[in-house]
Amino acid sequence: MTRQRLRLTLSGVVQGVGFRPFIYRLARSLALGGWIVNAPHGVIVEIEGAPEALQAFLARLPDEKPAHALITALDQREIPPCGELTFEIRHSQLEGEKTALILPDLATCADCLRELFDPSDRRYRYPFINCTHCGPRYSVILSLPYDRPNTTMRAFALCPACRAEYDDPLDRRFHAQPTACPHCGPQLAAWSARGKVLAEREEALQLAEKALRDGQIVALKGLGGFQLLCDARNAESVRALRLRKQRPEKPFAVMLPDLETAQQLCFVDEQEAALLTSAAAPIVLLKRRTTELAETVAPHNPYLGVMLPYTPLHHLLMRDLGFPIVATSGNLSGEPICIDEFEALARLGRIADIFLVHNRPIARAVDDSVACIALGKPLLLRRARGYAPLPVPVPSGTSLPPLIAVGAHQKNTLAIAEAERLILSQHIGDLENAESERAFSQTLRDLAHMHAVQPRLIVCDAHPDYLSTRHAEQLAIEQAVPLLRVQHHHAHALACMAENAIRPPFLAVVWDGTGYGTDGTIWGGEFLQVTAQAFKRIGTWRAFPLIGGEAAAREPRRSALGALWQMYGCALPEWLSDLPTLRAFSAAELSILRQALQRGLNAPYTSSVGRLFDAVASLLDLNQRMSFEGQAAMRLEFAALEAAPNTDESYPFEVTTITTVNGESVRIIDYAQVFEAIMREWRQGVSVADIARRFHQTLCAVILAQARAAALERVALCGGCFQNRLLLAGAVAALRRADFVPFWSAQVPPNDGGIAYGQAIAARRAFDHKEQA
Ligand SMILES: [Zn+2]
Ligand SMILES: [Zn+2]
Ligand SMILES: [Zn+2]
Repeated sequence: MTRQRLRLTLSGVVQGVGFRPFIYRLARSLALGGWIVNAPHGVIVEIEGAPEALQAFLARLPDEKPAHALITALDQREIPPCGELTFEIRHSQLEGEKTALILPDLATCADCLRELFDPSDRRYRYPFINCTHCGPRYSVILSLPYDRPNTTMRAFALCPACRAEYDDPLDRRFHAQPTACPHCGPQLAAWSARGKVLAEREEALQLAEKALRDGQIVALKGLGGFQLLCDARNAESVRALRLRKQRPEKPFAVMLPDLETAQQLCFVDEQEAALLTSAAAPIVLLKRRTTELAETVAPHNPYLGVMLPYTPLHHLLMRDLGFPIVATSGNLSGEPICIDEFEALARLGRIADIFLVHNRPIARAVDDSVACIALGKPLLLRRARGYAPLPVPVPSGTSLPPLIAVGAHQKNTLAIAEAERLILSQHIGDLENAESERAFSQTLRDLAHMHAVQPRLIVCDAHPDYLSTRHAEQLAIEQAVPLLRVQHHHAHALACMAENAIRPPFLAVVWDGTGYGTDGTIWGGEFLQVTAQAFKRIGTWRAFPLIGGEAAAREPRRSALGALWQMYGCALPEWLSDLPTLRAFSAAELSILRQALQRGLNAPYTSSVGRLFDAVASLLDLNQRMSFEGQAAMRLEFAALEAAPNTDESYPFEVTTITTVNGESVRIIDYAQVFEAIMREWRQGVSVADIARRFHQTLCAVILAQARAAALERVALCGGCFQNRLLLAGAVAALRRADFVPFWSAQVPPNDGGIAYGQAIAARRAFDHKEQA
């Protein structure tokens, strides 16, 4: 009988997902000999036997692989047979390149859940139960390859029972690195806000549950960091949490006991249910059905951010409590999430009444992800737990130089890339304070260490004053490599292009809050013609002054006043005297601001659509001062959802074409007519909802008009404004009706959380260009 032997090298997500036991069982079922081993770049398999059996092995491999496994490359070579008759799993190799992909943390699987609540199981009510199909991954890995000594579980020696499962290739816990049981694994403790141990194990859990029932605030050490919890039905508790966390109005997410409760409180369609119960288990924005929960959970908001229990600890807590709880990141507003219990005592000691902690260290902060269903598919708004650090798509045939991209300023993420592999970090946050700056530096070091990339290029935003830019400049000097600065809106466009595999040339509609333009003004309402090598700004909104610069971003009344100034100058028409925007200022404030405008003091010009949303919200008196980013735009979107049916007409708008100094023509869209119509209708008593709806319709009409003028079939809708589902759906429908092909970001947030992704893609093109030159 002829025998053949093959050596296979597989890369992708092939560690920590039950891949080796799967190969073991497959090889044995086909009577093949050989071995499998985890290597830093993936797994290596040698199989030997009859040629037909080898063929069957290769055919069944892709179809039957474990649910969470992802094979990105398979190299196959024939080698001389050596007569091996049995198959075995070998110890991991430590040498070699670190290119294996790291899996995100996965929600508790059905098998573990059954054991958790089975009184006869040895892990009954054990808050750290997990197996090869579920449990912590990214939040416990210290380095590759993914083996227990390289995780934060290394301090816990396996007991004989756990060891037997761990060593048995046919067991669900074979090489489940974080596996543990009540005898050998991590344990809970309840601490007072001063760090005094109040109770341990089951008693600690009960104490925390009692505190929640009594209306207290609990800081819980979760999977990727601390969460702050309180009874979502108790208005007093929610108010106390808002006060102590310094988060007056921004919506809180809630954790509900089960899908049925979610369906009682909110409208949940099939896709939303699938997203809620997925292994990633993000916070999903759902339309509210009732106002049963405290209004202060998400004030003036028709949606609720809902998540289901995703760790055994959450399952125990929610099953015992049986009521909705607020579950928000364990931090002070604007700061990164806490991961260490001693640090948490210091930072959250004034917020929480009691701490429910445990002794399994968290390797890195990974926040809860936030998503919604838009146009029939999941749209990520914050990409972290459950998604990071999975790779993001790279256009086929692209090979990236080894690089680090540092992202923007708000909703910061980082990217690291080499060849066809592009890893986007978890959400870090706004780089506003020393704490987030520290989180940024830590994540930067962590990414470079985990993936062992030696960058040949650093990429950053074109904004000279971003903290991320300054870090990048420093890093480029330290590493003695070039620095590439990528224009903000170009990066947005390239992220959308790479995710959707859009072939250039295409039109990118990039609308967001702010980004540094190539002319030094603040961009944010751009139409870019993107080609394989560059971009051209072919359209934009008429710019207006942002009175007070940064302050304007927090006060919609300032955006509105700036736009009115641009329309009318000093002399506002008489009929505007009772406008809410003007009434939102005192007479003294108005006179100071007028002088500032006349002299052009601290009033940079912007074409931002985000600020136009703010301005309209101010004209309609929906919001004059914001307590969180995006608040005014959200109020306007929600108002529009209440519009009478058939409110589908739009306002007239003017477009003028100007020629720049370079001889290029740019179409300028004027909001003046739109604003005038809005103010007239408001005075006539037309409902705010109808006006808000017509404003959205107008924006869609503008996009369509620009698409026609650009005459490019493919249109990318990108930037933070397209988190607005009404705008996204309206623009997509308008474009499709006119035979354009619209694209939008979904797997990677359309907001600045996707900037690092676009920067990395831009770097590839810049490099190609330079090396050819
Ligand atoms: Zn499991
Ligand atoms: Zn054990
Ligand atoms: Zn942006």
